[in-house]
Amino acid sequence: KSLDEKEIIKRFRGSELQKYFERLHYKDIKISYKPQNIYVFVKLYGEKKVIEILESLVKSKEELSNILKEFNIENIAERKIKELSGGELQKILFIITSLKEHDLLLIDEVTNYLDIYERVKISSHLLEMKEKGDTIVIIDHDLSFINSLADIVHVVYGVQKAYGVFSSPIGASDGINQYLSGFIRKENLKIRDKAIKLDVKPYTDKKIGKDIVSWKKVYIKLDGFELMADEGSIREREIVGVIGRNGIGKSTFAKALAGEIKYEGEISKECSISYKPQYFDFSDLEITVHEFISRFNPEYKKDYNEYLVRLGLADLLDHRVNSLSGGEAQTLYCFSVLVKDADLYILDEPFAFLDIEQRINMAKFIRDIIKLKDKAALVIDHDVVLVDYVSDSIIVFEGEPGKKGVVNKPVENKIAFNKFLETLDITMRRDEKNRIPKINKKDSYLDRLQKERKEFYT
Ligand code: ADP
Ligand code: MG
Repeated sequence: KSLDEKEIIKRFRGSELQKYFERLHYKDIKISYKPQNIYVFVKLYGEKKVIEILESLVKSKEELSNILKEFNIENIAERKIKELSGGELQKILFIITSLKEHDLLLIDEVTNYLDIYERVKISSHLLEMKEKGDTIVIIDHDLSFINSLADIVHVVYGVQKAYGVFSSPIGASDGINQYLSGFIRKENLKIRDKAIKLDVKPYTDKKIGKDIVSWKKVYIKLDGFELMADEGSIREREIVGVIGRNGIGKSTFAKALAGEIKYEGEISKECSISYKPQYFDFSDLEITVHEFISRFNPEYKKDYNEYLVRLGLADLLDHRVNSLSGGEAQTLYCFSVLVKDADLYILDEPFAFLDIEQRINMAKFIRDIIKLKDKAALVIDHDVVLVDYVSDSIIVFEGEPGKKGVVNKPVENKIAFNKFLETLDITMRRDEKNRIPKINKKDSYLDRLQKERKEFYT
């Protein structure tokens, strides 16, 4: 192994990386690393209690109690690592990684499993660490997360399952712009055929029509959890986004609309519904991708061939459904649900496990289907950029995770984001160059100005 490392150092002679690899080789540099796969940690430390691990990393009781409070983990401190949910485990691993002594913090896909509140809070926490002089590398598919934190970005391009190339460093705002445009200027290189445009919605929403589904005084009681929805509706040609914390009842509400669980109150729907649940398991499905889609719409090739190609499904048609990766399975299920004929489409976390490009392609597909065919949709997700892009209006869920959820009326995107950011006391603004929302540095001029004006999201 040490020979290999020396060869690597030689290979990068004369570059910045030579110095870095040298320091790494001579253990002159400490790295704290959060891997993408968080379940590796369960195998190693599953029997340990959260509090035991944290205690060994903090310098004082006070620091410990601050951390428990800041990350809202007092109620899981006594649990064993193996008992945590995906989101809880992600959060704990992030905290452990950031507490370990380090020169460099390496964070691989921390936003997975985390709700929109936690994503914004972790960005804000990392931003403060950065201000105090920390060096951080993040790998992520959430554009707003990257835009809020990064000073420079490397665009990684190439061919799936064949090769990947890191671009040279580019200023973050510009780098994200170039990534979206599909052209890396410094390298004079095209990485994609088409530019991705996010700031302008592909359609105007002036033609939003009559109610497709509406609800009134809906009440759902589950074991230990209750959900209330006063009133609201989703109209023809309208896409309603949903944001809220994990465990606040988003999926429960989706199930009620889809007619899968019991509720009190009124949900009016003479409409037909096509529904993609948040959790699904294809491991027992021995059928092919083609057979799977055919169950939803046997004629799909005729009408949606172009989308099959764009979403990367065209090459997978004879693959078995149970052999697909998480991202491929997600794409397949969303595609199938959307090509089925229905009036209302309900998509519970359609962007989970997808990379940035797949997310944007899926968002465009959702908008095309709803707008071209005069349908309606409810889309639940935690990615600020994508929820804003795909939605005509947004429902904010409030309440107390695990206990009580309140479903607000759909409101204008900006008002919805404003509401959720106000509860976190964090302000965001759109980047001038790339239009992606970005967190303001705490107590900076813009942060104070926006708070004064009650414009938490502009
Ligand atoms: P979200 O989608 O917003 O993360 P869910 O709607 O999945 O939240 O869950 C809301 C709450 O209801 C959670 O506390 C969850 O544990 C609980 N819950 C969900 N399904 C059931 C069920 N079938 N029985 C009892 N509790 C449930
Ligand atoms: Mg859910």
